[in-house]
Amino acid sequence: MFKAKAYSAASAISPLALTTIPRRDGTENDVQIEILFCGICHSDLHSVRNEWSEFMPTQYPIVPGHEIVGRVTQVGSAVTKFKPGDLAAVGCMVDSDGTCPECRAGFENFCPNMVLTFNSPDKHLGAVTYGGYSESIVVDQRFVLRVPSNLKPAGTAPLLCAGITTYSPMRRWGVTNGKKVGVVGLGGLGHMAVKLAHAFGAHVVVFTTSPNKKEDAIRLGADEVVISRNADEMQKHAESFDFILDAVSADHDINAYINLLRRDGNLTIVGAPPKPLGVSAFALIMRRRSFSGSNIGGIAETQEMLDFCGKHNITADVEVIPIQKVNEAYERLLKSAVKYRFSIDMASLKSE
Ligand SMILES: [Zn+2]
Ligand SMILES: [Zn+2]
Repeated sequence: MFKAKAYSAASAISPLALTTIPRRDGTENDVQIEILFCGICHSDLHSVRNEWSEFMPTQYPIVPGHEIVGRVTQVGSAVTKFKPGDLAAVGCMVDSDGTCPECRAGFENFCPNMVLTFNSPDKHLGAVTYGGYSESIVVDQRFVLRVPSNLKPAGTAPLLCAGITTYSPMRRWGVTNGKKVGVVGLGGLGHMAVKLAHAFGAHVVVFTTSPNKKEDAIRLGADEVVISRNADEMQKHAESFDFILDAVSADHDINAYINLLRRDGNLTIVGAPPKPLGVSAFALIMRRRSFSGSNIGGIAETQEMLDFCGKHNITADVEVIPIQKVNEAYERLLKSAVKYRFSIDMASLKSE
């Protein structure tokens, strides 16, 4: 065991502050990583403030962060995929049982024994896992991803959650060249969805409530922008979409979007509104439409996503901040006042 600097919260109402945490000495299958950048995901904030206590109560202290890019510093004797000096990435999970039907099908993200990168029981050291707001992390090689060398690390970090969360449902529902794809909400997830759908060759339409996001949406790769409050504009797109990705986590009229799907079209939700949505069965039945959810992706698919981003030179639009600004960043995140993801420069932790 060794000590690592990190930022943690001591309770649901405490700010994040400097601390030291234990990291395990690497076993033969482990990769030790010096963290260069860690993205700030909205679920970091939910967990720090224990807002998902019903599904996954937070154990304190918590060290959040699951959008990790770093440099390999040490590898175990059985590690074949990495060597010291390599760029590497870690996303939302760090382990799974490897034997259940989900794992065997490549869906570690649906494994009942999946271990999250933070706030999951830690079988090595007891207590819970600690995430990426730290100078280092030790992870089994099965859960470490390769980073294409042309991608800048700061903007690559958010691919590990925001990227795979939007990539996976697009692959699942057959987004390819020539398909018409809608993206609802232009935040951290939405802006990745626009970039990825554009790279797949789809005709991309962004739905937003704010007209001032129009220019940015086009810059990110949208072909059209629809102001969702304008019923006439919405009506023009009725029954025309193959796929819509809904990344809104506030309450909203889901049927307004379902009605824009063509026959057999799919709407996948990746935002998590706190209250149940009122889905119209009639809207689904009449055109054999489907409504689904999605949650990150398996390890092989996450690697596929990173390689795809490497090929198309896609990273997230990030505002790089020092770790000392993390509490301020959380307040801005609540107001969606970031374009489009914060990425923490972990070199700032060295001066503490
Ligand atoms: Zn996340
Ligand atoms: Zn499993």
